[in-house]
Amino acid sequence: MRHVTVIGAGVVGASTALALRRDGYAVTLIERGEPGMGTSYGNAGMLSVTSCVPIAQPGILWKVPRLLADPLGPLAIDWRYLPKLAPWLFRFVLSSAPARVEHISKALMSLLVQIIPAYRELLGPEAFQDLARPGGVLHVYQSDRAFEGAQRSHELRRRRGVAMTILDQSQLRQAEPSLAPSFKHGVLMPDSYRAVNPLRLTQTLVQKFVDAGGELVTQPVDRIERAGKDRLFAVGNGSKRELDTVVICAGAWSKSLARDCGVDVPLETERGYHVMLPKPGVMPRLALSSGDHEFAITPMEHGLRLAGTVELAGLHKPPNMQRADVLLRAAREMFPGLNDEGATTWMGHRPSMPDSLPVIGQAPGQNRVFLGFGHGHLGLTFGAITGLLLSDLIAGRPSRVDLEPFRADRF
Ligand SMILES: Cc1cc2nc3c(=O)[nH]c(=O)nc-3n(C[C@H](O)[C@H](O)[C@H](O)COP(=O)(O)OP(=O)(O)OC[C@H]3O[C@@H](n4cnc5c(N)ncnc54)[C@H](O)[C@@H]3O)c2cc1C
Repeated sequence: MRHVTVIGAGVVGASTALALRRDGYAVTLIERGEPGMGTSYGNAGMLSVTSCVPIAQPGILWKVPRLLADPLGPLAIDWRYLPKLAPWLFRFVLSSAPARVEHISKALMSLLVQIIPAYRELLGPEAFQDLARPGGVLHVYQSDRAFEGAQRSHELRRRRGVAMTILDQSQLRQAEPSLAPSFKHGVLMPDSYRAVNPLRLTQTLVQKFVDAGGELVTQPVDRIERAGKDRLFAVGNGSKRELDTVVICAGAWSKSLARDCGVDVPLETERGYHVMLPKPGVMPRLALSSGDHEFAITPMEHGLRLAGTVELAGLHKPPNMQRADVLLRAAREMFPGLNDEGATTWMGHRPSMPDSLPVIGQAPGQNRVFLGFGHGHLGLTFGAITGLLLSDLIAGRPSRVDLEPFRADRF
């Protein structure tokens, strides 16, 4: 039996390890900390079948000076990080050309149409029902300006066939009575799901993997060493483990491991924040997305989560929790009577490629190294389908999705 080692037990690595174990491989999942406690812990929980809109939109170049000037804006760049960020930022801006946006959006959609069946397949119908809720996502707008500014994204979604209903002020009040009456516009996208607890989702995948006979090892992989023509070793904590086949799923920390295997990828991190309100006093019926402040508000089993924003400042700078305070201030405006007693804050590292597309596939020129990272804003959404695609690939089955747009060497 072939042995596969998966590095990283976030939602992507956990899904991949489980899919491979179900295929009958001997699988070791190596995680340096607690499974699910990386970026997969604190996201907004959206299983967002409507997210076919890349982050770099036409006109982004002209916004860069403003992004550098406002450290608390929805998308901020730390100017001290600019020299390191420049090559990624350059590709990010190139990705915003209208023809590229169209191409990226089609590639995103090719995965999005598969995400719910993929989670059902991996989790099984009972666990899926326990962990995911239907009902859709409601984009809400206080200002006409924000609503008009979103039209281009909504047009792109429409072209990709996303179901959407535009709500006027009174329909919006009916759909979501918890919102302040000042909200004027809503766009309901009914087909999305949300996770009731993203950490529990990853933990369930890991538990199923272990129950199926998978091996979970707690250990950092400091580097992957190559010896001779085809021997590979995972080195960390003073130990050296020979690898048969390896899948790198280490989220925002995948770049150096990929480089050890001879693959150079433009992976960066888009840092995001959340505020968790355990006793919010107000609970929206639906998952919401604020069009004015660009963050998500998600009802979860352990409270209300406010999550989002993008900060380009690398992996090492300490969090700027003022960015989380901005989310809380905006939410107080949105929901009269919101209670922040016991609120906790968090910062996490989205693993982001400049074109908003993940890397899924075989490492170029390597037949025993596979890559599953760079899922950016959509790692929870794409967790299960990535696992299934990688297991199809490793087993030599035809792919359910054209993997060409997700190649590591596409740049
Ligand atoms: C504020 C915010 C909101 C978000 N909202 C959503 C959303 O609503 N929907 C959505 O789909 N996505 C969302 N995302 C994105 C999503 O959370 C990420 O894309 C996803 O969690 C990435 O999963 P991953 O498994 O690749 O990485 P991670 O969850 O970070 O897992 C990587 C794991 O690898 C381990 N690791 C790393 N290096 C090593 C090493 N050398 N040795 C051993 N182990 C290692 C880490 O400890 C970690 O556990 C959001 C992100 C943020 C920050």
